[in-house]
Amino acid sequence: MHLLLVEDELEIQSFLRRSLSEAGYQVEAAGDGKTAERLAIEGGHDALIVDLGLPDQDGISLILRLRELGVNAPVLILSARRSVDDRVRGLEQGGDDYLTKPFALAELLARLRNLLKRHNPSSSNATHLRVLDLELDILRREASRGGERLNLTPQEFVLLEYLCRNAGRVVTRSMILDQVWGMRIQPDTNVVDVHIYRLRGKVDTEGYQPLIRTIRGVGYVLKDR
Ligand code: CA
Repeated sequence: MHLLLVEDELEIQSFLRRSLSEAGYQVEAAGDGKTAERLAIEGGHDALIVDLGLPDQDGISLILRLRELGVNAPVLILSARRSVDDRVRGLEQGGDDYLTKPFALAELLARLRNLLKRHNPSSSNATHLRVLDLELDILRREASRGGERLNLTPQEFVLLEYLCRNAGRVVTRSMILDQVWGMRIQPDTNVVDVHIYRLRGKVDTEGYQPLIRTIRGVGYVLKDR
C-alpha cells in the first residue's frame, strides 16, 4: 500500500514516516501543498494523510484541488483544530476521516486500515492492485507475478482485473459476462471458461501457487491467501 503523507512539522513527518514504514506501508512525504499536489498527481497512492495547517495553503484547499484533478484516494485529515465545525467542514469537503493532534499512533493505524478497507480493493479508483505475488498496474495495463511480467491480451487483463478486485470472493460466469463483456444475459457460450483457461495458463504457471480456482457449477474465485 502506497501512502502520501502531507505534514510540514518535520518531527511529526519523520516519526509518521518511520512508523508507517514499519507497519508495512510505502510512504512518500511532502512538507507543503505544492509538493503534495505534484506527488499526488503522479498517482499510485492508496490513501493520503493530510495535515490541515500547511505553510503555503490550507489542507482543505489542497484536498479540494486534488479532487478536482481527479485524485480519488481516500484522505485522512490530521489537524490540531479541535472544534466540531472544523471537523465537519473537513469531512464535508473531501476528507474521509479526521484525527486531531495529538493522536496515538495505534489510532492512526487503525483508522488508516479502516479507510483502506472501505476503499480497496473493490474501489475502481485503485491504480495498483496486489493479490499475494500478483500485481496489476491498472493505468499501464501491465500484470506481473512474482515480479515477472505476464503477457496478457487486453481482454485477459480486464478479466484478471475483475478477479483481483473481487479476490477471495466467488464470481459467477454471469457476473463475469456482465462486468467484463458487458452482456446482461448469459448466452449459450463458453467464452468465460475459454478465457479463464488461457488466463490460468499464464498466471498459474509451474512453480507458482495456483490462484484461480474453479468452484464447480458456480464460477471462479481468485485466492487471496
Ligand atoms: Ca502543520
